[in-house]
Amino acid sequence: MSIQILPQIALEEQSQSHIVRSIPLLFYPMPNVLYTHRQERLKELSKDSPFGDYLLFCAEIVKEQLALLKQDPIKVDLSNILNANSHTAPLALANYPLSKKWQEYLQKILAALPKMTPEIAHLINTLKQNSSETLQEKAELLLNGKFNQVESNESLFIWAALSLYYTQLASQLKGKAYAENSEEDWFCPVCNSLPVASTIQIGNNVGLRYLHCSLCESEWYMPRVKCTNCDDLQHIHYFSLDEERAPTEAECCDSCHSYLKIFNQELAPRLDVMADDIATLMLDMKTEEENFSKSGLNPYLFAQKMD
Ligand SMILES: [Zn+2]
Ligand SMILES: [Zn+2]
Repeated sequence: MSIQILPQIALEEQSQSHIVRSIPLLFYPMPNVLYTHRQERLKELSKDSPFGDYLLFCAEIVKEQLALLKQDPIKVDLSNILNANSHTAPLALANYPLSKKWQEYLQKILAALPKMTPEIAHLINTLKQNSSETLQEKAELLLNGKFNQVESNESLFIWAALSLYYTQLASQLKGKAYAENSEEDWFCPVCNSLPVASTIQIGNNVGLRYLHCSLCESEWYMPRVKCTNCDDLQHIHYFSLDEERAPTEAECCDSCHSYLKIFNQELAPRLDVMADDIATLMLDMKTEEENFSKSGLNPYLFAQKMD
């Protein structure tokens, strides 16, 4: 199936009451709103979490992303890639080569971050000594999904800078891009990266499920009760740590033995996919004990992806 990812263009869904409603297929990010909320949410979750210190460290990174967004925003003309009428993700490396702008963001993030532990201070110093060519190579390895070829702690900072760059690009596409919704629709239709997790939304899209991109922060529609890794519809079950109707569940597929978290905004309206994914790390541990492996990527948890 080939689809246009224009937000204005919608699929039609026949609901049980035979009322047809429109489904927006894609939401581009709003970086300012996103980073502001994420920073607040990380701090909120840190108060009552065994991972509190780490959540606060992540909040510091997001604070820098937000500051750079205001101080040094990018504005680029994306009409070339849009006019190319490509049916692949417009911001995928093959369509839109990576400039070195992201490296300026990386250096500024590294300079501004508090050295919360000696390990972080050492890591920041090591990264600062990388040549521009080395950094570009590492970034391209990560963008090509070769996560185990870059040291996981370095990946976190590199991805934070890359994400700030790509999120701005995605926010400037303004609903004019095209992408193919092929059999691999678990990859972001805008930048071709893996999702962090999925959310069941509220508001105008109540009850609909969207995957959230780990790089450009776009969100794309995915029907519920369907494996986001192999499209299986038959062998899906849900696992949570606590009560029935938990706001966070692991959607597990017995066909490909993968899982991805699904967050329900109806039960946790203030959630942020990235922050809540870190705060619910216990659920990952329990799900992995059952021999399921995570199909998504949280850039703040690269070490988990490496294992
Ligand atoms: Zn993306
Ligand atoms: Zn599957």
